[in-house]
Amino acid sequence: MMPRLACGTLAISLVSLTLLLGGRASADTLELTDGTVLNDCFVRDEGVRYLVWQKMADVGGPARIIPRSKVKQVKIQRGEAWDAHPELPDLSVTFIELNPKLAGLHGNVFYDSCSRVKPTAEGNKAILDLGEKAYLEPQEAVKNLKLKHEPGEEITLTAHVKNVGFADAKPFKYVWLIDQKELQQGECPKALKEMEETTFELKWKWEDGFHSVTFKVLTDQAEIATLNNEATDPLWGWGYWFYVEPGRVKAWHQIRTNAGTFSFEDYYRWHVQIMNTLFAASVFPAAPEGIKARVRLDRIIYTDNVEKAGQNQRSAEDGIIYHQGAWIWQNDEDKKKEWKVPDKQGRNTTEWSLPHELGHQLGLTDWYYLDYDGKRDVHTWPDTGEKIAHFMTHADTMMHWHGPHVWSEVDAGYLNMTWDKPRGHFGDYFYAIPRECFLEIQDINGVGVPGATIEIFQRGTEVDSKATPVEDHGVKYFPVIEDGNFGLPVSKAAVVVGKTDEFGMLRLPNRPVKEAVSLNGFHREPNPFGNLNVCGERGLMLVRVTKRDRPTFYWLEAYNFTVAWFRGQREKFITVLRTPYGSAGSPLPPRNVKATLGGWNKDQVRVTWEAPEVRHEQQYLERVIGYRVYRRIGPTGLNDRPWFPVATVEPATRASVAELKDKPDDIDWFSHVNRFGVTVVAEDGVESELIEVVLPAAK
Ligand SMILES: [Zn+2]
Repeated sequence: MMPRLACGTLAISLVSLTLLLGGRASADTLELTDGTVLNDCFVRDEGVRYLVWQKMADVGGPARIIPRSKVKQVKIQRGEAWDAHPELPDLSVTFIELNPKLAGLHGNVFYDSCSRVKPTAEGNKAILDLGEKAYLEPQEAVKNLKLKHEPGEEITLTAHVKNVGFADAKPFKYVWLIDQKELQQGECPKALKEMEETTFELKWKWEDGFHSVTFKVLTDQAEIATLNNEATDPLWGWGYWFYVEPGRVKAWHQIRTNAGTFSFEDYYRWHVQIMNTLFAASVFPAAPEGIKARVRLDRIIYTDNVEKAGQNQRSAEDGIIYHQGAWIWQNDEDKKKEWKVPDKQGRNTTEWSLPHELGHQLGLTDWYYLDYDGKRDVHTWPDTGEKIAHFMTHADTMMHWHGPHVWSEVDAGYLNMTWDKPRGHFGDYFYAIPRECFLEIQDINGVGVPGATIEIFQRGTEVDSKATPVEDHGVKYFPVIEDGNFGLPVSKAAVVVGKTDEFGMLRLPNRPVKEAVSLNGFHREPNPFGNLNVCGERGLMLVRVTKRDRPTFYWLEAYNFTVAWFRGQREKFITVLRTPYGSAGSPLPPRNVKATLGGWNKDQVRVTWEAPEVRHEQQYLERVIGYRVYRRIGPTGLNDRPWFPVATVEPATRASVAELKDKPDDIDWFSHVNRFGVTVVAEDGVESELIEVVLPAAK
């Protein structure tokens, strides 16, 4: 139904969060990096920050905010008292609905076998069937849709207020605010019973720009929580619809969640707020003020048959879905009408899968599609025989893991460019590749490597052996089979072959594409990746650089090309690949480099070498001023997890001991094979070619 990808469960914990549930302690412990320990508190994780209630009486009220970087460790411990039902009411503003709604394009975007995209008239009467023309002029196809509000247009806002407590709520006053300025006051004369809901309307004349609406309950009565007495929503935010069965909502009312209340609505509304908090915090060179796009909860649809309701989202007469993303709650137990409450662990932490999945609803793809173990490949490291693997260059982001992460720079650029456009597209940012892309092959001293052979292999492709190679600016490319099968491993044969020029540069050929323009404004034109598909399989290319019979391997990730485009490098982008080769003026390399486990103990490695041959007595280019020892871990490319220096020693030294534990983080993906390398350091820090060896495994 929803055009989203099946999403793997990547339950990898990247923070030191320990869950000790059912223990003797009845509340959380939070340890700060300065040594301060907060005992018996209640902690909520919002990714970039923790919200802390210092004691039980504070739960549901204002919380102390602590930036994540100040927190060393959190222990979540919730005793029996946490779930005890207070004999109190609890008025909650569950959602604010906005009408008239804008059209969404979920279910109405079509991708052809080359990942060209167009709005489709299928299943609706509102989108024009323009055939091929819709691939280049999508705005024509959707010209009859309501895609924005006009200034002065009457908007109806409907606030839903529900008593999620365990005693009747007394009548209360309320106030509507726009941009925190009071617009209208009113009174609810009715006493709301447990789980009873009522609604309030506000008419407002639409104004363009970034405005917010607030609905606030004004009351002195004692309640379980006060933070749910008001809701503030961004009026420019994309509206989500949630589908849930009343039985599930009822079951959730029996237990307290990490939002501090006894309410399904409060817990998941909090997750939508977290998305907005993380949008604001996703600050990058391409998004210096963060992501300005926002989301809001537009409707909760309570229905005994969520399956049917989910299939029936085109309820409007024109067949268009009038939301910008939806989520349907249903598991196998729900289907049997056995309403099980989530376990304590689940509901007393943040459900990080949800912001990720709701991110897909906005058009964001899974960045873990760019991870690659290479297992089905023919390409191996010559020294170990290991498959050449790749781990995404910036994995700690919301659309790579389910975890407490900000969105990536591409996500930020994309959402900032499209915040006022309907949702329903997916991954069309992969169309955004700079017009001319170059590789700059550098040697160990950062000097261009002339005359190096470049062969590029692409995941998700197979070279068409019947097609004739084409030359573009002196670089050859080989047409690939276009049958829509993007699930292939990296091509056996090269899709691009060329040689670097005298400066070490190679212009990547712009391979032909089926042209397309998405409604979001992204235009796919000829580019180095060719018909790059919007899930990203083709967004990964393996580069083999060879000079003097020593091949080295690198990965080109479409992510980085798109980042460059969002940063403003739309005309020209250079990818630098650093090789271990020496320069013309380099000294000769060391000889007989060896690495053995065990120096003083088994956790050390002893690296030894011999001095280089002396070619010319007293010649300054060959004057050895020292040696540098390097290390590398795993089978990934030389540009994604590169060599790192471990020691620089004086010229008489012939051995160095490295501690295995001394290494940077984020490098040991796929395997723990260690390589060590040594260079000769000559005058001015000029280094020789790096001579490498594989550390033999422990016996
Ligand atoms: Zn996913």
